[in-house]
Amino acid sequence: MKNNLKKYNTKRNFNITDEPIGKKEKIAKKLRFVVQHHIASKDHYDFRLEWNGTLKSWAVPKGPSYNPKDKRLAIQVEDHPLEYRKFEGTIPKGQYGGGTVMIWDEGYWEPLDNPKKDFENGNIKFILKGKRLKGKWALIRLNENNWLLIKEKDSVIGYKNINEFITSIKSGKTMEEIENKKKRKKVIKITNPNKVIFKNPKITKKDLVDYYKKVAKRMLPYLEKRIISTIRCPNGINESKFFKKHLENIDNLLGKINISNNAKEENYYYIKNVEGLISEVQMNSFEFHIWGSTIDNLEHPNIMVFDLDPDENMNLKKVRQGVKDLKSILDDFSLSSFLKTSGGKGYHIVVPINSISNWENFCQTAKNIALLMETKWPNKYVINMRKDKRKKKIFIDWIRNTRGATSVAPYSIRLRKKPTVSMPISWEELDIVKPNDITINEAIKRIKKEDPWKGFFKVNQ
Ligand code: ATP
Ligand code: MN
Repeated sequence: MKNNLKKYNTKRNFNITDEPIGKKEKIAKKLRFVVQHHIASKDHYDFRLEWNGTLKSWAVPKGPSYNPKDKRLAIQVEDHPLEYRKFEGTIPKGQYGGGTVMIWDEGYWEPLDNPKKDFENGNIKFILKGKRLKGKWALIRLNENNWLLIKEKDSVIGYKNINEFITSIKSGKTMEEIENKKKRKKVIKITNPNKVIFKNPKITKKDLVDYYKKVAKRMLPYLEKRIISTIRCPNGINESKFFKKHLENIDNLLGKINISNNAKEENYYYIKNVEGLISEVQMNSFEFHIWGSTIDNLEHPNIMVFDLDPDENMNLKKVRQGVKDLKSILDDFSLSSFLKTSGGKGYHIVVPINSISNWENFCQTAKNIALLMETKWPNKYVINMRKDKRKKKIFIDWIRNTRGATSVAPYSIRLRKKPTVSMPISWEELDIVKPNDITINEAIKRIKKEDPWKGFFKVNQ
């Protein structure tokens, strides 16, 4: 059996569903299994065995039975990502598998023979060590995708009818309770939609909500699961702005994470999906800044950012040359890089880093690259952030690649004089697009065209 999550990913729109994106994972010491009760167009149980970093999956219409005489039809479906074993919730209507999913049982499984061969031959015997399912079981292929799930005779007794278990093994919730939770979550009420945030042109809070709804699909890959800090601007850009690092939003739509920094526990938060993003905008957070790592791999940053900060009144031609010089160095290292406007004074060069590096190495690498710039062209570039050292030069800001530092997220609005965006652009556009050229209306037009950052997470492997 081929190990393949492509099918899984193409069937789903991850901007709409909360199900995890399919990624292959490292093989754990013990093999896990999960059974999810899934009420979709039909009521069934999804039986999943960890194998080769994914979950081999079968839909069992009647669910497993403890009676060895019951031969339960199990229809093999596409491999699911390992992460899926944690999924409990509602898949939106109209999406693939739309309905409610409950974690019905979980634990470990042990193959009794040679699982690689047995999967291929369609006859696999194994022991389940779950909370509800235990003992010896067998999966036997009839034809194509049709298998039988059968309880083998052994000494495990005491479980009669699986239908007795109507709650989640994880949350204790019934199907109905899981469904209701989602309904509450879905509705995000936008208060004061007509409040003016930018005066010229006139942009209201609702316009900003609409903007983020429209760009969410493009933006989320860079935003989701990264610790954020935001700028709140409840009364328009001419009034007070607040930096926000901690969760204040009580909608329960956002992720919370405690991190110790220099022995001090701090509470951070992150966005998980479009609802979380919109709920933050409802709270008047209009500008989003992100960490270089995701919460799944917090100590291994994967997005490096170089910010070119020109001295005041510097000719844009020189700034653009700076971008080209930096790109040439990255090219020399065979590092693919991507360009975005800052929405303010400069450009940001963004480098996906996939070789797992810790923060120290990561930041040192960024510094060394910046230092190369300074060494090669000492009259043009400087890596020291002090203002008096920057006279007529461009400061290559590598410091935002330290743990805990942030930079503005791609597609984030900037709360500057006019409603600009930190916008991904193609390298060919460097000489055409100014750092503060792209406004939210222009950005909305652009996202209908080809993504200039296509392949971002695939390069530099
Ligand atoms: P410009 O092109 O105008 O220089 P920029 O995005 O490069 O724009 P700033 O917006 O001045 O630069 O940001 C400087 C640094 O401060 C960045 O690392 C940024 O992430 C950080 N920063 C800005 N706002 C916040 C915030 N709300 N919370 C945390 N860090 C922030
Ligand atoms: Mn800058």
